[in-house]
Amino acid sequence: MVHSGARRSGFTLLEVLVASTVLVVLMAAIFLVLRSSQDDYAVDSRAVELQSQAARARSILERDFTEASIDYIYTARIANTSSTYSFTSKFYDASAGVSQCQNSACVWSVDAQGAPIEPRSNLTSIYVDWTGTVYSYRVGKVWSSLPAGSTCPACGQPVLPAANVGGAMLLSPRDSLGDFVLSDGPDNRPDWQAILLYVPVRDTKTGVSALRRFAVYLSDLENVDPATGNPPNPIYAAPGSYFYDYETPGWTLWDNDNPVGNPSLLDLFDLDQDGTVSFDPQNRDVMDYEAFDLSGDWIYYYRYRASPDYRMFYVSINRGTGETWISLYFTAGAEYFYRYGYFVRQSELVARGVTTADFSMNRTNPYSITNPEGVVEENIVRITLGMDAAFAGPGGTRRLDRVQILQVCPKN
Ligand SMILES: [Zn+2]
Repeated sequence: MVHSGARRSGFTLLEVLVASTVLVVLMAAIFLVLRSSQDDYAVDSRAVELQSQAARARSILERDFTEASIDYIYTARIANTSSTYSFTSKFYDASAGVSQCQNSACVWSVDAQGAPIEPRSNLTSIYVDWTGTVYSYRVGKVWSSLPAGSTCPACGQPVLPAANVGGAMLLSPRDSLGDFVLSDGPDNRPDWQAILLYVPVRDTKTGVSALRRFAVYLSDLENVDPATGNPPNPIYAAPGSYFYDYETPGWTLWDNDNPVGNPSLLDLFDLDQDGTVSFDPQNRDVMDYEAFDLSGDWIYYYRYRASPDYRMFYVSINRGTGETWISLYFTAGAEYFYRYGYFVRQSELVARGVTTADFSMNRTNPYSITNPEGVVEENIVRITLGMDAAFAGPGGTRRLDRVQILQVCPKN
């Protein structure tokens, strides 16, 4: 059998070139599709992560603020004297690494689709000093890990080496065991068991700002185990903690409470003893001085009245370590009641990666008076919480931001 010539097998050079080109184009297309969907996945997974964080923050905030009373919520720094007062809607946070962009044109974040989000720096907050002079400043994004002298990563403008951040203080009817407590009076009003403080904190380990929830309980003022009613209180059992108290025999000031003879938080704030207490600066119990502020790492709340009876209440909490000092001193004629304690309690994480935290109310927050973003409704607390996440995306680092606004109506 003879083969008819050498039958050519394989492909011509041209065919190979064409095939290769087609292959390369196809591979590139596949690669682009893959990369694009990877980017989409990165964006989507961050969005889902932020979404679940936001849901967690929402559930904590909604419960506490719904169970509170509109009369027992502070949303602003307040420094008050009997004749004059000054207040801002913000804390001034000068922690190392915390800074704030105040460029009103700064678009510092994008949504999941890459569209710019309205710059928060368009919001304005105001400060009223004791002479009544009004100062206003921009409220831009808070950066929590920039070295001193840095510029804003979003717009390149210089940042302020400190931030104006929002916080809130409120009374809660939940005790240290988490139980909702009602007074035994005829109207079954909530028996205020805790002072809660919501304050942004920069974690020095991660460099990320978080909104955290700090609590001081009524039982912290007693050396009695809240679970059993017997001494000792576990909070004072830890090494380094201590508790000191003294009261004159026959002290009867807390006579509306259960059990009789124990103070309630209302007693501590009800300076005129009319059975009500208000944090509202327009309608408050008369006092000589009051402040709710940040000082370095410390959050503090302090109020006192010098006469006719001396009444002082002081709480100070270290934002980083949870170290807590409480001090309470009341007199009534020749009698007096004194409590002093030190302990450590860790705060609860509410939201991580916080870039904005605003708590505003119509009644206690000047922010609402001139700012269209403020609260108009009398009985609403408005909470604006911004969170972000940075990740590598097409064209460099992208920042995904989620700003949620809660409007909560306190029910008690
Ligand atoms: Zn900026």
